[in-house]
Amino acid sequence: MNSNAVIAIHGGAGTILRTSMSASAETEYHAALNAVLSAGQRVLAEGGSALDAVSEAVRLLEDCPLFNAGHGAVYTAAGTHELDAAIMDGHTLDAGAICCVKRVRNPVLVARRVLERSEHVLFTGEGAEAFAAAQGLEFVDNGYFDTEARYRQWQLAREQQRPMLDHDGATLAAAADATPDATSNAASEAKGDAMPHEPIDPNRKFGTVGAVALDRHGHVAAATSTGGVTNKQVGRVGDTPLIGAGCYADDATCAVSTTGSGEMFMRMVAAYDVAAQMAYRRVTLEEAAHDVVMNRLPRIDGRGGLVAVDVHGNVTLPFNTEGMYRGFARLGEAPVTAIYR
Ligand code: ASP
Repeated sequence: MNSNAVIAIHGGAGTILRTSMSASAETEYHAALNAVLSAGQRVLAEGGSALDAVSEAVRLLEDCPLFNAGHGAVYTAAGTHELDAAIMDGHTLDAGAICCVKRVRNPVLVARRVLERSEHVLFTGEGAEAFAAAQGLEFVDNGYFDTEARYRQWQLAREQQRPMLDHDGATLAAAADATPDATSNAASEAKGDAMPHEPIDPNRKFGTVGAVALDRHGHVAAATSTGGVTNKQVGRVGDTPLIGAGCYADDATCAVSTTGSGEMFMRMVAAYDVAAQMAYRRVTLEEAAHDVVMNRLPRIDGRGGLVAVDVHGNVTLPFNTEGMYRGFARLGEAPVTAIYR
């Protein structure tokens, strides 16, 4: 039995500034990350597989409106939601993924079924939903994914697309406060599903969720799930559901889940590059992940981060943005969570 079992998660990276985040929002994020890590820890403590731990962690993150995946997903340019997810087992190299789904409640559970029960790896749109239906998975109306906070981000992204590109979250929050509907947002915060000072610029808003784990049997797994980027064109797919870009796991090297500007992560094949550098350059997990996030991605203006774990229980959570919602938990130890640099 491997005594180094560990789970690490992220809830997205971006322009997350301490100055524009309220104390109560900060507490809420830490509590949510802690709860998810504790659930993942339980799975591992009971001898569950890394695959079970990452599915459960990502399912919970999808159900939490604070994060851009499942309930709380961002809006497309058409005002709808399209979700992507992937999962990979480092023991067998089996993988499953879906993209552009509109009505499945938990995309990660569909991806898991693809991994387990299909000869294919990636399903898109209607085909993915037909597969999910045949598997008896839960369906919801597209409106289930709506949240007031993401709606406001979408409005801001639409209104301020050009000049807002370089603004940070503090500017965004200030602009939002100046709008007449700021009070309705406060009301929705009372309902518990909005962040009046949502600290991430919607144009730089990378709120994907993900998890990586090493189980007591010595195997690793990774899962990633997202609503994509705010105001994306209908049909746009990012790195998240692409094995090797947004998600990768191999017992021989590591498990990786990414978050950030998906187009750049795709072009850099970011998740796989961490594993490949370990295999071919014989560098540590830390060195490989650092190189991808701090050197390679910035070359093409790739912004974001990743969480990764290797079979020895090493964990790394690098990001090149102002913040990344993140945390990890080892068996028998209290979870560690963080937001800022
Ligand atoms: N990588 C995701 C995408 O491009 C976005 C994110 O990480 O928030 O769809």
